[in-house]
Amino acid sequence: MAQWLAEHGHVVTVLDNLSTGHRDAVRWGDLIEADLLDPAALERAFHGRSFDTVMHFCARSLVGESVVEPYAYYANNVTGTLNLLEAMRRHEVNKLVFSSTAAVFGTPVSDVIDEDHPKAPINPYGASKLMAERFLEDAAHAYGLRSVTLRYFNAAGALPDHGIGEAHACETHLIPNVLRAALDHGPSLKIFGNDYDTADGTCVRDYVHVQDLARAHALALGFMDSHEGAHTFNLGNGHGFSVHEVIATAASVSGVAIPYEVAPRRAGDPARLVASSAKARELLGWDPRWTELAPIIESAWRWHRDQPGWSPHHIHADARTQAA
Ligand code: UDP
Repeated sequence: MAQWLAEHGHVVTVLDNLSTGHRDAVRWGDLIEADLLDPAALERAFHGRSFDTVMHFCARSLVGESVVEPYAYYANNVTGTLNLLEAMRRHEVNKLVFSSTAAVFGTPVSDVIDEDHPKAPINPYGASKLMAERFLEDAAHAYGLRSVTLRYFNAAGALPDHGIGEAHACETHLIPNVLRAALDHGPSLKIFGNDYDTADGTCVRDYVHVQDLARAHALALGFMDSHEGAHTFNLGNGHGFSVHEVIATAASVSGVAIPYEVAPRRAGDPARLVASSAKARELLGWDPRWTELAPIIESAWRWHRDQPGWSPHHIHADARTQAA
């Protein structure tokens, strides 16, 4: 996002506690190292600066972890968001783009999820984000805050030409774990459950490229100029891919046979999450460019492959067979 904003002439200030982020990833703006749970630090961040808009990406965001550490999730995602909103109000910053998630919906009751789908989160992560969404509706009425909430389905992919990829010390996400397995870097790949009620028994997700997500945020800026109130949009490609399909596509993209084992289900995982983004297309004019799974994985593969010390050294002749 910061890269896009800087490229389009915006002045960017990044606030991060660097608990999972990296100082050297802040290359398109100033960095304020602060924690949303520290109101005094937030006050210092806003004091003397003038912001048009806040884009709020900070959160604990791992479904499985949220089930075992719910207090950390409610503190970060609920209290932290409230602290940010209060600081914005004190400093008269009146526009917010907020990162939310498909996890607010819980177990889907329809094949494709639009914004009107019932919200019944089945894990603390989703519950914490839904609570923050509610803050924004209330803030629109009480304080006139303009906001756009963007519910990402599965954020994926990388911008290897800008050196941006998923650089997590402890990786939990499927695509980077699959690619690490292809590079023989990191723990062996586990499929969390193959007994779901899906075509091949593994979970189905809607993978959307981070660059398309950034474009949606950029469109949200213009949308808030002409629309009062709190607005929500689902962001996905509208196509679901199973864990097995992701592994097969990654094998095809990388040319590496990817070993895996089947493990028990992960707590809090719904079987299928696929978005309808018709509202974002219609009202924001969002037109995702990364609509196929293979290029999304290929962008991540190029980034992972180029990390120092990671190289594919066990390319198997039967990779194509696995991919097929
Ligand atoms: N998954 C998996 N092995 C992994 C990581 C994830 O089988 O090493 C599964 C996970 O159970 C889920 C899907 O892949 O069904 C996507 O998980 P991810 O953590 O990438 O995103 P989430 O759906 O939790 O946002």
